[in-house]
Amino acid sequence: MTDVNHRLSKTLVNRYGRNTLFVIEDLTDVSFDDKNLNTWNKAQNCELRSWAFYQLEQFLSYKVKETDSFVLKVDASYTSQRCPKCGRIHKLNRHHDIHEYICDACGYHSNDDRIGAMNLYELGTMYVSGDTNPRFGSRKID
Ligand SMILES: [Zn+2]
Repeated sequence: MTDVNHRLSKTLVNRYGRNTLFVIEDLTDVSFDDKNLNTWNKAQNCELRSWAFYQLEQFLSYKVKETDSFVLKVDASYTSQRCPKCGRIHKLNRHHDIHEYICDACGYHSNDDRIGAMNLYELGTMYVSGDTNPRFGSRKID
């Protein structure tokens, strides 16, 4: 996994060049679907995935310094439940079994991972527009 994370972070930094804002989900305390990793027990899988994401984040955060880029960790809430076209947030619009998001309000549909990426892009846009803590859903009043 270490080699994969080195190559992945290097590829991302080389591909997007200078002054890039990389937006990643803050996956602290997020649980994952175990169906694709069944050779180890649940605790081992969870530990491996947490460690792998943490390592990728660390490598990326280190490598972006060479290109004056930046890694922004955002609240992962609703990034897989929000329609990027109309903004509706509805958990049941994501269909895990077919990896598809289908909006019941506007009909927009796409691959569920793509929907997540589109929503991260939106959060990044909110950030560069001045929102220092971009997120979807309810906000905590400071
Ligand atoms: Zn929609």
